[in-house]
Amino acid sequence: MHISGQCHCGAISFTALVDPSKVIACHCTDCQVFSGAPYRAVLPTRSEDVRWTGTPQQYIKVAASGNRHTQAFCAQCGTQLYASDPDSPTVLNLRLGCVSERAQLPPVVHIWGQSALPWVPVPAGAPFHTQGLNSALMGARPSISAEPGRD
Ligand SMILES: [Zn+2]
Ligand SMILES: [Zn+2]
Repeated sequence: MHISGQCHCGAISFTALVDPSKVIACHCTDCQVFSGAPYRAVLPTRSEDVRWTGTPQQYIKVAASGNRHTQAFCAQCGTQLYASDPDSPTVLNLRLGCVSERAQLPPVVHIWGQSALPWVPVPAGAPFHTQGLNSALMGARPSISAEPGRD
């Protein structure tokens, strides 16, 4: 599927050839902080299949494990564009929020359910892993329609 996208101010735009069966929703705490949202949807895409106009700013995130990850964003408006391995950026995890065709690209899998916010509904039928893609699946979540506490 061919897509296009751009940051909010328009300084950076891109076109790409993507696989709609690869969209992931990540509920990890880093994604919550970086995105300013309850979770983040990403579209893993081969970097050779993406064409950029403009140059994103990069921030290198260092995880507790020591793993480094490039976070690319627009230096003018702050829109997040992708993440990648800083040493071998063969795959770009495009941020779905800046993709024009995002309405047609629902996540097929949800990960890091152990840090998912309890009020975020997960679509029925999408696998929901406790951590990464190879981790165990989540058990039943508490119902969010339960009577709220009164105290
Ligand atoms: Zn921008
Ligand atoms: Zn994440």
